[in-house]
Amino acid sequence: MSSTNSKPPLRQDTKLAHAGRDPLAFHGFVNPPVVHASTVLYPDTKTMVTGAQTYSYARRGNPTTDSLEGAMKEIEGAAGVKIANSGLNAIALAILSCVKSGDHILIVDTAYGPTRHFADTVLPGIGVSVTFYDPKIGADIKTLFQENTTAVFTEAPGSLTFEMQDVPAIAAEARAIGATVLMDNTWASPIYCQPLSMGVDLSIQAGTKYLVGHSDAMLGTVAASERAWEKLDAFCGAMGCHVAPDDIYLGLRGLRTLSVRLERHQRNTLAVLGWLKDQPNIDRIRYPGLESDPGHALWKRDFSGASGLCAFDFSESTTQEQAYAFLDALTLYGLGYSWGGFESLAIPVRLKGGRTATPVNLDRQSVRLHIGLEDPEDLIADLDQALTKAFG
Ligand SMILES: *Cc1c(COP(=O)(O)O)cnc(C)c1O
Repeated sequence: MSSTNSKPPLRQDTKLAHAGRDPLAFHGFVNPPVVHASTVLYPDTKTMVTGAQTYSYARRGNPTTDSLEGAMKEIEGAAGVKIANSGLNAIALAILSCVKSGDHILIVDTAYGPTRHFADTVLPGIGVSVTFYDPKIGADIKTLFQENTTAVFTEAPGSLTFEMQDVPAIAAEARAIGATVLMDNTWASPIYCQPLSMGVDLSIQAGTKYLVGHSDAMLGTVAASERAWEKLDAFCGAMGCHVAPDDIYLGLRGLRTLSVRLERHQRNTLAVLGWLKDQPNIDRIRYPGLESDPGHALWKRDFSGASGLCAFDFSESTTQEQAYAFLDALTLYGLGYSWGGFESLAIPVRLKGGRTATPVNLDRQSVRLHIGLEDPEDLIADLDQALTKAFG
């Protein structure tokens, strides 16, 4: 890894182009090799028994994993980074690295659905109790602390309903009792939000989304603060975590263009939403990048940009039939889960059982959109014709 210690600190876009690369270590090739490996050979027994070489066994790291972990470490400003098989796997590993039997964890009510499922199924089984909390709680999080609270999980904006959280206020209270602070930062990515600078200890990315960016691989990353790194590293090592080098390489390739893609996702999203907000039958846009959004002030304070994921609610009188007819009429927005690729997507928002601490703030038909890299005029025209088909 080329060292930046003695040089002035690089800006984020420069890091994206240079971090995690050391061409001269690999015959000058710009990108690191994709190392397919298990066994690593030693030149002699003494080197083997003293462990005096960089790599010992591919599960414990190889030049491909080092490259992505090293790059993410620089971009997140972390003490260390671990790569996981998926975003959900990264969430599970991060949580399990900082709780043990008898502990209590606080999880935001608007967390990604499968995070809730993990908390509802795996955590009770290992003796960890869970309380879900209102995303608007802020510093009042302290009223929910128990003697055994050791972790606080945040996500902003929330999945499907896009509520913002005051992460710095929550992190400050959690740190005061020595709890580990986690944040699912998939929506903004470390380009538009830097969790570790807000007091978060474990910054989680579903790398499947914007990091990979092309809908062709699944990855997760966990970036750790100094106080959380040792435990995360040891836990992932003990669990035998290893991600295939081809997928890591796709993450590394995506990383190089992350910032330019996000800029375009943001620009297209603002263009599409600027049109959509004035259409009949549309009641509310859910996107903290818009001034009309209740989370806009927090977003403006803590984030430097907004991505391509948003939602909108239809008017109260809209039927499920009309909402589904709208979705079915779309031609440029694929009907599919996940997001973060170059292409636009749509799903009906279904919150059934998805909120337990707060009233569900959604009483009508709602659609989540991922705004891709297509020309926004075409994306608007597609929404327009689909609305016409659904509402006549
Ligand atoms: C998609 C997603 C995840 C999970 O990522 P996978 O790679 O699909 O496991 C986690 N958090 C958020 C906010 C997501 O949108």
